[in-house]
Amino acid sequence: MRKPRTGILAAFESAKGFMPLDEGLALYAAAGEAAGLGLPLLEVGTYCGRSTILLAEAAREAGIVAVTVDHHRGSEEQQPGWEYHDPSLVDPDPEVARMDTLPCFRRTLYKAGLEEHVIALVGRSPQIAALWGTPLGLVFIDGGHTDEHACADYQSWTPHLAPGGLLVIHDVFPDPADGGQAPYRIYRRALESGSFTELSATRSLRVLCRLDGSR
Ligand code: SAH
Ligand code: MG
Repeated sequence: MRKPRTGILAAFESAKGFMPLDEGLALYAAAGEAAGLGLPLLEVGTYCGRSTILLAEAAREAGIVAVTVDHHRGSEEQQPGWEYHDPSLVDPDPEVARMDTLPCFRRTLYKAGLEEHVIALVGRSPQIAALWGTPLGLVFIDGGHTDEHACADYQSWTPHLAPGGLLVIHDVFPDPADGGQAPYRIYRRALESGSFTELSATRSLRVLCRLDGSR
């Protein structure tokens, strides 16, 4: 499997985020393959840019662009008092005092030297998808993990995936003891639709390929 440049791997490993190296390498491999279509790669769930680095590097190599979508206010489990909360990511302005991962994301991308290969969209995923009109080579779903958010991401972005494009889903846990079931449910839904075939599974990262042009 092709690996990213050493500096990119170092930037990935030092970035805040929720993706272990083996899954990151699988994401990078999928992005490299999808980039051959010459269409943009899209991520739902930027957070601090850890996974974005790998999509951006694959995009840079292919001369295309990576698009990453996030409202930057954090998912449910990242709010104060919850398991994945990081107090250093709260806006210090007392009038705001909300999660704000946008500054951290911008620092991550700048340090990785990949700013010019990424378009960051700040907003709610389904609202952005509703305005979207460009076919995509890859859709990476790693946003909100409630059924509401995961379903909305699946329904709103997969219609934009070109035939032969890749659908990558993170945090797919067939066993409920390992984690929430919403990403697993959209993964099942994609397979049961008959429009996707599974290419690889690396820990909780699943790579599917769109078989046809159907919606
Ligand atoms: N891909 C990142 C982790 C993403 S965490 C990494 O590898 O490190 C999930 C992100 O999804 C959070 O930053 C949260 O703000 C965002 N998110 C959750 N629901 C969303 C929605 N409906 N629209 C846009 N972003 C959303
Ligand atoms: Mg994830």
